[in-house]
Amino acid sequence: MGAEIHRDCPVLSLEKLSAGWQAKTSKGALSARIVINASGPFADHVLSLRTGSQLKKHIRLVRGSHLIVKRIFTHDKAYIFQNSDGRILFALPYLNDFNLLGTTDIDHQGAPDKPVISQDEIDYILKELGQYLKNPISEAQVLATYSGVRPLFDDGKQAAQSVTRDYVLSWQADSEKSWLNIFGGKLTTYRKLALKVADMVSQILPAPKEIEPGFSCLPGGNIPDSDFDIFLQGLKEDFSAFPELMITRMAHAYGSNLSTILGTATQPNDLGIEFGYGLYQAEVDYLVREEWARTAEDILSRRSKLGLYFDKPMTDKLSKYLASLAMK
Ligand SMILES: Cc1cc2nc3c(=O)[nH]c(=O)nc-3n(C[C@H](O)[C@H](O)[C@H](O)COP(=O)(O)OP(=O)(O)OC[C@H]3O[C@@H](n4cnc5c(N)ncnc54)[C@H](O)[C@@H]3O)c2cc1C
Repeated sequence: MGAEIHRDCPVLSLEKLSAGWQAKTSKGALSARIVINASGPFADHVLSLRTGSQLKKHIRLVRGSHLIVKRIFTHDKAYIFQNSDGRILFALPYLNDFNLLGTTDIDHQGAPDKPVISQDEIDYILKELGQYLKNPISEAQVLATYSGVRPLFDDGKQAAQSVTRDYVLSWQADSEKSWLNIFGGKLTTYRKLALKVADMVSQILPAPKEIEPGFSCLPGGNIPDSDFDIFLQGLKEDFSAFPELMITRMAHAYGSNLSTILGTATQPNDLGIEFGYGLYQAEVDYLVREEWARTAEDILSRRSKLGLYFDKPMTDKLSKYLASLAMK
């Protein structure tokens, strides 16, 4: 829709001009009429980058951590358990072979960029879950963990789990409607939030260009009648020479964009170099080109969860291939 996106380009400082702002970034200066501070857990930090800003806390960082274990139940239902402290814990089927156990809700101290599960969180999840299981899970069974930091609007409530999950949109008081802060929010409400932001901004800036009215689907969401089961069934028939697991994984990851990766391939080997567990060169190239993946971790941990299966030699092979692309 005409946006210019600068990736890997942190804003280092922001200076107020007579009309708008100048941002110093790692790749040079940019100017803008309006700054929208949509930096999630970094919202207070980005506010502090303004020249002459006074540090004020708007965001409460609350860490959520999860454990991944080999499947402890084989069906595809989710469990929600009531904990002794009034909170809930869940155990979800995760990919084909794992369960996801979590989550915690504790205040996160320090910078938000590298959250890591604490021993207390591991103990808490295993202990609370253990009350419901015939065979409690031991720490040795934990294959992987991951943590994230929720950027919650700090409404002064006491317990981390009671802090509002609603978002707050506010013009920065001293900015004459040239700086809009987004505090808090959820994935599930992002579209509403974005529309509201567009509304607020369009009262100040002229609309950039005519946007087609009506619903436009998300990338990969152009699935006939939005019927994923029939879509997947069709793919399995059209690509019957491919492992079912591979097609199922890719259909979930790419939806209607999958045809861009598979093209005219009639068998897996048509997709180039094989890296393992159904990951081929054509998918890696797509991820680099369309989803800005750069490292093996981007692909194995973030864009997919194939890292739960890959061993070191397989990961090294992928890293080497990505390095060869970067040299081109
Ligand atoms: C454990 C956990 C569970 C959750 N569960 C749910 C759930 O079940 N349902 C739900 O709806 N939501 C859930 N959420 C919340 C949801 O993930 C977040 O609300 C959402 O990701 C926030 O998106 P955002 O775009 O505001 O921030 P982010 O996705 O964090 O994006 C902020 C961006 O700003 C960039 N940035 C930071 N500083 C700078 C700078 N100086 N210059 C340039 N860029 C910068 C960052 O690189 C980042 O890309 C959960 C969160 C966690 C941690």
